[in-house]
Amino acid sequence: MTFDPERKMQFLFALRSKGVTDKRVLEAMERIDRGIFVRGIFAERAYEDMPLPIACGQTISQPSVVGLMTQALDVQPRHKVLEIGTGSGYQAAVLSMLARRIYTVDRHKRLVQEARIIFDRLNLTNITAFAADGSRGLPEQAPFDRILVTAAAEDPPGPLLAELRIGGIMVLPVGQSDAVQSLIKVTRHETGFDYQELRPVRFVPLLEGLGQD
Ligand code: SAH
Repeated sequence: MTFDPERKMQFLFALRSKGVTDKRVLEAMERIDRGIFVRGIFAERAYEDMPLPIACGQTISQPSVVGLMTQALDVQPRHKVLEIGTGSGYQAAVLSMLARRIYTVDRHKRLVQEARIIFDRLNLTNITAFAADGSRGLPEQAPFDRILVTAAAEDPPGPLLAELRIGGIMVLPVGQSDAVQSLIKVTRHETGFDYQELRPVRFVPLLEGLGQD
């Protein structure tokens, strides 16, 4: 399948109908071909609005959820962004169209290696991908203007809150992994954090430590 103009139109239409209206986010998602991030038999369905399986038992998120999370993050061109949960690399690629610098980490080395190959191929030179336990954050690059977590924790991890710049925003799913979770937007102020609940979502769990592969 190719991301031809007809399919692009349908893809963008589906995003808009689910509430992704930010022009810059729509442009970024028009530029990044989701088909490149999905392998094998599921590649056929890359332009449908559904999550799909990737390696290591993980999933590439539903495009409308990628769009809504990116929109809620309110990314600006000068921002340094941290993503936890590289997965296929699709979300990081979309972010790379909108911000100056993206750091993305995944606990599975294999996913990071595969995503790096795609970033090179697409010449997305402003993304750095690491294999690491993202629940500890990425202290050597902190603070971040924006943090996006694409795996669900029961509560916002303390190290990530600590690495958010004052005035910064973090978007993350919270809740038990086997139940419906809530997408939360956390804004850091001079004196503390403000929490806003956005919508119900369903993500794979944020697990501690590195994966086996
Ligand atoms: N953003 C991805 C989808 C991520 S699926 C995309 O665009 O395709 C969630 C990912 O979070 C999985 O790849 C999983 O390995 C990763 N993950 C779970 N717990 C983690 C942790 N503690 N640190 C880093 N990555 C983690």
